[in-house]
Amino acid sequence: MGRWKPDGGLSLAYVVVLLLMGCYAGETVSEGSGGGAWRGEEVPPDHVLPPPDPGVLHSSLLIEGETATLTARDMPEGSVVVFAMSTVGPGTTCPAELGGDCVDLAGPVLPLGVAVADLTGVARHTFTVPEPPRLSTLAVQAVTLGTPNTISDMIELPIYTTATAPGPSCDIADLDLQWPLPGDDASDWVTNMYVDLDRQVGATMDYTGGSRTYDGHYGVDIDAPTFRDMDDETLPILAAASGTVIATEEGEFDRNTSCESYDWNYVWIEYDNGFNAWYGHLKQDSVTVLPGDTVVAGQQIGVIGSSGCSTAPHLHYELWDCDWYNIDPFLDELWSLPPIYDTELGLLEGMTRIGGFATWEDLVDPGDDMISAPTSSLAGVGMSMAGGTSGDVITLQVRRPDETLWVDWDNELTAAYRHHFWYWNFYHDLNQGTWTANIDIDGETVWSSSWEVD
Ligand SMILES: [Zn+2]
Repeated sequence: MGRWKPDGGLSLAYVVVLLLMGCYAGETVSEGSGGGAWRGEEVPPDHVLPPPDPGVLHSSLLIEGETATLTARDMPEGSVVVFAMSTVGPGTTCPAELGGDCVDLAGPVLPLGVAVADLTGVARHTFTVPEPPRLSTLAVQAVTLGTPNTISDMIELPIYTTATAPGPSCDIADLDLQWPLPGDDASDWVTNMYVDLDRQVGATMDYTGGSRTYDGHYGVDIDAPTFRDMDDETLPILAAASGTVIATEEGEFDRNTSCESYDWNYVWIEYDNGFNAWYGHLKQDSVTVLPGDTVVAGQQIGVIGSSGCSTAPHLHYELWDCDWYNIDPFLDELWSLPPIYDTELGLLEGMTRIGGFATWEDLVDPGDDMISAPTSSLAGVGMSMAGGTSGDVITLQVRRPDETLWVDWDNELTAAYRHHFWYWNFYHDLNQGTWTANIDIDGETVWSSSWEVD
């Protein structure tokens, strides 16, 4: 390819993103001008534990003040151990060979963290003891990943009671949820994946009967436009209802572009009615509350991020009732102002880049917009889009300093999308001065940007 093309024409490529529970699956497909296809692939859920096989691991719990250390032993070096927490149910049965230390679980297993067994076969995880918990009894456990999976003997935490406080109502009618992000649908964020209401393995269904979920997804995924929103902290996470903070984590790396780590930053809040919510994937060091804090609806608790199994910044919001049954806030109409399911096409973010866009990472993590560029240089305009369906038209126009059109690209959608990225690369010609780009949706300009060519 030459240094520039006199007709302004160009390399088109685009990326379609499937955000799966927190996990993006994005595939870049580069084509010649006007061509294209999209591919996506499913990725594993971000914190679903493998099925347990009772019996093998040995673990212990040490509580010192507010700090608890869970230790798993007797594992092959390098074993990956998932530490998790659950509630203890009634009617506990304890096989004699486990010395009476085992318990039955009443609720789902919720993740605390992950560690790798050292040379001595030991893995440890330290966490803050929930306080003041209304969860009357908790169990913690360690589970190794791999086949066969093993599960530790589960250890009962000391029982915390709320003898001096009235118990929560546990009535769903006492819960109203505010949207946990500021701003507007399809402009500042977009809902990408919903709760999987079909609990059969291999089957999925969202609250409309549709397929915007994936197997075993217990939460709602709300996407940020790009990593800029994490870096600039433009999307604080807000408590959806008032309650008490049970546990938090904020020390985990937040720029995952893979699903290799399950260690995420989160805030766990028990709402005033006794329901429990997890706000996950938060930005590192962004959590603004501590265990034991009371929060009010709308209060900032962190910043959107991409920690844990996540390849782009988004919030995973997960809700459980007092008996640890998973709740879909859309199905139960708990949101005071729910975003609509069939999101209208909107621009989340426009971006320009000297050198053009070439990879998924370029689009989801674009850095700053182009301010200046040399003549004849390669550049690109990218866009993070929400919603839309067949027949919607995205138009990109780039104009030279004399306002003549250099790029005029109509992109008519041929399918419905949730969160999708597009870009167009082009070469500047020899014209110096202020170049401009604008993006139109169905004929209305929604974004423009300019830069100097010299
Ligand atoms: Zn999710």
